[in-house]
Amino acid sequence: MNSFEGKCTTCPGGCATDEDAGFMITEQFGPFNQKNDIFNRSFWDPSIHSEKTELFYESYRKPLEEWRHVDGYDQKDFALRNAGWYVADFFAERLENEDRREGFLDYLTSQREGASEQRNVESPEAMAEEVKKAAKLFGADLVGITYHDERWVYTHKYSRDHEDEKEMDLPDNFVSVIVVCHEMDHDLLETVPSALSGTATGVGYSQDAITLLALAQYIKNLGYNAVASMNDTALSIPLAIKAGLGEYGRHGLLITPELGPRLRIGKVFTDLPLAHDRPKRFGVKEFCEICRRCSDGCPTKAIPFDDPSERIYNSSNISGIRKWTVDAEKCFDFWVKQVTDCSICLRVCPYNRDYPSWVNRLRFRLMGSFLRSFMLWLDNTLGGGKRKTPRWWWEKKD
Ligand code: SF4
Ligand code: SF4
Repeated sequence: MNSFEGKCTTCPGGCATDEDAGFMITEQFGPFNQKNDIFNRSFWDPSIHSEKTELFYESYRKPLEEWRHVDGYDQKDFALRNAGWYVADFFAERLENEDRREGFLDYLTSQREGASEQRNVESPEAMAEEVKKAAKLFGADLVGITYHDERWVYTHKYSRDHEDEKEMDLPDNFVSVIVVCHEMDHDLLETVPSALSGTATGVGYSQDAITLLALAQYIKNLGYNAVASMNDTALSIPLAIKAGLGEYGRHGLLITPELGPRLRIGKVFTDLPLAHDRPKRFGVKEFCEICRRCSDGCPTKAIPFDDPSERIYNSSNISGIRKWTVDAEKCFDFWVKQVTDCSICLRVCPYNRDYPSWVNRLRFRLMGSFLRSFMLWLDNTLGGGKRKTPRWWWEKKD
C-alpha cells in the first residue's frame, strides 16, 4: 500500500498498485534527495569533483582547448552535440542567476498566466484522451498518465549556488502526472561511445522542454494548474512504469514496447481531472534475467550481473527497493573520461533495434515468451547492437 492509494477517485477499481508495476519496496525505503544525484555530487562532493569533471561540463558550453581529431570526438562532433543540447540549455540557464537550473534542478516556469475559469470536465477518461492527443501534437512519441505518487518526489532540490540542498517547492495539490517520452535517434546511438552520439541525448532533452511547456500551457489555458518537469523534482522512471509506458531493465532504464530503452522522459504534474493508465508487463524482467548484454558491455562494470537486490553502492542510489541498481559513481567516471555521456548499455540492449515496428512488436512478444533464450541467441547471431563508426553516420545518405 503506498501513501496515495485510497486518495485517488478517478480510477474505477482503485489505483494501480506496486505489485501491478512490479515494484518491490521494502521497509528501508526513503525518498531520494536530489543533492545526492551523481551529477550534483560532482559539484559538492570532493570524492567526485575534480578538474576533469569541470572540463566535462565546460565541454558542453565552450570549445575544447585542443581537438582530438579522433573519429567521433572532433570539433564537428562536439559542435553537433552541443547544438542538440541548445534548447534544453537555454531554459536551464535562463534563471541561473536566481539559483534555478530549470529542467534539471528546478521545474520549468516559462509559462503564461492560464484561464481564470475552469473548463468543466465531465469525463476524466475523455479528458485523458484529449491530453494525450495534445501531447503527441506537441511532439511526444509516447504518453501515459498516472497518479501523483509523492514517494518519487525528491525530498529536497539542489542549489548550485550554495552547493547544498534547498526546499522542494512543488505545490501539493496535484493529483495526476502526465508522463511523456521522446525517441532518441537510433543511428546516432549506434556510434556510442562518441561525442557525436551525445547529440541524441541533447536533442531528446530539447524536444522534451518544448513538448512539456506547450502541454502545461494547454492545461493552464483550461483553467487548471500544471508544472512541467524534466529531470528535476521527481524520479521519472517509476512514474513512467506506473503510467503504463514500460518496464524496468537491468541497465536501470525504462524499456517500452514501442521504442525499447531509446527515449528521454519528462512529466507534467497537474490537478486536471484525468483517468489514469495501468502498468503493462511484457516480459522484460524475465528476459533481463537471461540476458546480460548491458552488464557485459559496460566498460566500468557498473551494471549488476546478479539478481535484483536491495544492494546500493553509494549515496547516489535510492535505498529500500529490490531492483537492479547501477553504480552511478563508476558510470559517471567513464563519462568524465570520455568528456561525453555514454549509452553503451542502451546500444547493446536487444530491445534497442531499428527493425520495422511490426517486426519489433513480434520480436518483443517472443522475447517475453518461452522462446526468450532463442530470441537472445538470434539477436547475438545477427550481430545486434554492434557499434558503427561516427564517420559512417556523417557519410550515410538519409
Ligand atoms: S552509460 Fe556506459 S558506463 Fe554507464 S552504465 Fe551504461 S554502459 Fe556503463
Ligand atoms: S541488455 Fe539485456 S539484460 Fe540489459 S536491459 Fe537490455 S535486455 Fe535487459
